Amino acid sequence: MKVTFLGTAAAEGYPALWCRCERCIVARERGGENLRLRSSVLINDDLLIDPGPDLVGSTIRLGVDVADVQAILITHLHDDHLDPTGFLWRGAGFALPPLPVAEVIGTAPTLGRLHDREGKALDPAGLRFAPRPVSHGERVSVSTGGTHDPDPRVRPGRTRTSDGAPPLASLPTPPESNTLGVLTATVARSYDIVVLPASHARPDEQASFFVVRQTLGPELTHGQPATVLYATDTGPFSDEAWNILDQLAHDGWTFGASIIDATLGLGGPGTAHMNLEQVVWHQGELGRRALLSPDAGRFAHHFSHNGTPPHQELTAHLAQFGVMPSHDGLVTHVGP
Ligand SMILES: [Zn+2]
Ligand SMILES: [Zn+2]
Repeated sequence: MKVTFLGTAAAEGYPALWCRCERCIVARERGGENLRLRSSVLINDDLLIDPGPDLVGSTIRLGVDVADVQAILITHLHDDHLDPTGFLWRGAGFALPPLPVAEVIGTAPTLGRLHDREGKALDPAGLRFAPRPVSHGERVSVSTGGTHDPDPRVRPGRTRTSDGAPPLASLPTPPESNTLGVLTATVARSYDIVVLPASHARPDEQASFFVVRQTLGPELTHGQPATVLYATDTGPFSDEAWNILDQLAHDGWTFGASIIDATLGLGGPGTAHMNLEQVVWHQGELGRRALLSPDAGRFAHHFSHNGTPPHQELTAHLAQFGVMPSHDGLVTHVGP
């Protein structure tokens, strides 16, 4: 399972938009891994977690293509994790069809935000997505890839660009999935997704974090499932969350990577986010509960300039505890 970090910052970005603190100045000077967009990850090329406000920027910056995404998981309704406007660019005139229909998975209050784009609801049929409300504790399965029907807007046998112009002869031949009217075939994968309650936001907003287990696909080693824990934004895990995780351990699940909220950095401990000490404790506790594979990648993620040192110092600090910081563009291959 391939995990690509599209963005790794908290809500204000790092360096923060309006900030001239020492850390933001250093981040701008050093550039590279110190420049962080708002948090989002892509799993393989077909499962996206958190379609936030930086999705356009991060995919352009990293040269990542998300047109094959068929599952979109949303942790919660905060603006830095869900930007409904991004869904508009899936529509006719913006995306060259046929786009596969993407299942959009989140709790009811989270998906409710899709009805709130400048006061108007998004149109799932026109924008090629299907909302799938889930509850905490639920396990859902998603299959992606295979052959899917062409977009109904497409008339067979014609190839053109999204603005209606004929393709330029000098451009390379578009891949089959970009040829209108042809059934597209993408790689078939299956995922089991576990929805956990996050310690974050108002209780009625039902913020979540996820375990994603890939059970089918060419990335798997000897066909063995690969599993990742993606836990942002959240404070210390609740008893309810630990009970669900214990059940997964009982069922024999182990995580090849665990990615945990570190918004508060070297600051004091939090209840709706965590500091680095809390991240280290949670990584250890996952190990003690037999939830981490022997060579699991242990990541801290979702960083703020308030408390988080520049990337190089952060990396050195966390290395003592066997934890790595995420950075934008980081790709990690998650094994069984
Ligand atoms: Zn956030
Ligand atoms: Zn949040």
